[in-house]
Amino acid sequence: MVPEIVTGGNWRTDLFLIQIPNIVSFHSISQKWRKVMAFQTAFRFLPYKDASGNQRANPPAERIYGPISSIGPLTVCAYVVETKQGLVVVDTGYDKDGDLLANNMRSLGLDPSTIQVILLTHFHFDHAGGTSRLLKLAPAAEVMVHEKDADTVEAGKWKDRAGYPGVKVTRRLKDGDVITIGGVAFKTEHAPGQSPGEVVYLVTVDGPDGPCRAIFAGDATGFKNGVAELERLGYPGVCADFRTTVEKFRKMAFDLYLGGHPHQVFNEARADGNPFITREEWLKLVNGRAKEYEEFVKKYPKYLTIFG
Ligand SMILES: [Zn+2]
Repeated sequence: MVPEIVTGGNWRTDLFLIQIPNIVSFHSISQKWRKVMAFQTAFRFLPYKDASGNQRANPPAERIYGPISSIGPLTVCAYVVETKQGLVVVDTGYDKDGDLLANNMRSLGLDPSTIQVILLTHFHFDHAGGTSRLLKLAPAAEVMVHEKDADTVEAGKWKDRAGYPGVKVTRRLKDGDVITIGGVAFKTEHAPGQSPGEVVYLVTVDGPDGPCRAIFAGDATGFKNGVAELERLGYPGVCADFRTTVEKFRKMAFDLYLGGHPHQVFNEARADGNPFITREEWLKLVNGRAKEYEEFVKKYPKYLTIFG
């Protein structure tokens, strides 16, 4: 099955945007969305350490909402989306996590050999590392990542540091690309900052409480606010990229926030780990990170010169 990819197509981005003047249809759509007052899910993200600071065991795979399930290992999140034409995996953990993800899929009754597409949010070792192991089970699966991170995913290394077995990127995505497979459309939004080619994927899925707007956010709401982390992962333009991404995020609204790490949900969006969020919770998360960033560059202004 070949996924259909449209660049710059007329996708219903308006569902994810707020305050769009002069678009009449937006108001009628937004009335419809308001009818869905609350989404129910038993799923909760868990802190990866328990109250005494010990690392927890990997959580089992779990269905989140409609066709979306969590298959992620402990400290990193990975997801699978079932479509009528096969599975779409979003992020793959570290190299060694690839096998765990496959087993987690099996525990939900899903066959990893039916993976059609692997969507990567960015090249980082903890998000793209397991791709090669999954491709051993689903050799025909397409691997997609933003064009600015594609070379790094193929090399499996950043700067001089090797991280995972490189894999062939079959599709180098651009901002606005929509990947449609089995009736599910994933909209690519470039949201750089964690990496030059970080993206988020926006998707609308149906579930028991009605249609739901989900964001696979990777680490795009984060900022490398540690000196060591910025030295290791920074790149020219990272500071400007982060500001642009924050502005983009402030205009958006979602029902389901699927971050790249559990702590992004339960610490920063909701204390209880429930991935369903309101626009206020989303803004709190984005604004909190933006504040951390502004404080960081105030404290270490040299990074504005180094990275810009
Ligand atoms: Zn990460």
